[in-house]
Amino acid sequence: MSDQEQPQAAPAPAPAATPAAPAQSGGQSGERRSYSSGGPRGPRTERRGPGGKFAPRPKVCQFCVEKTKKIDYKAPEQLRRFVSERGKIRPRRQTGTCAKHQRELARAIKRARHAALLPYSGEVLR
Ligand SMILES: [Zn+2]
Repeated sequence: MSDQEQPQAAPAPAPAATPAAPAQSGGQSGERRSYSSGGPRGPRTERRGPGGKFAPRPKVCQFCVEKTKKIDYKAPEQLRRFVSERGKIRPRRQTGTCAKHQRELARAIKRARHAALLPYSGEVLR
């Protein structure tokens, strides 16, 4: 016995009469929230303060990424990137170097200074 009994749901609601929508004012677009469950820390937002002087620093240690790169005190051209204009060793937060490589880097820079390959202080200092 096939008893066709389809419980009919409520009839489709009539489309609500929308009031005459005013012209959409530009600028206000729909807000959306993308909530990625990637990790506890979201992506680092880059703040741009007045006078964006700093170049966007790399996120990862360059020596870890390129394992062929060696920290050599005899290659001052390479070390120069990690030294400020005044001859100071740039901090990790600027260069993105990891702690291990920063230590090696600092040692190499100090050796290079001793070997007069890098300046102890900026070249043009009064
Ligand atoms: Zn590293």
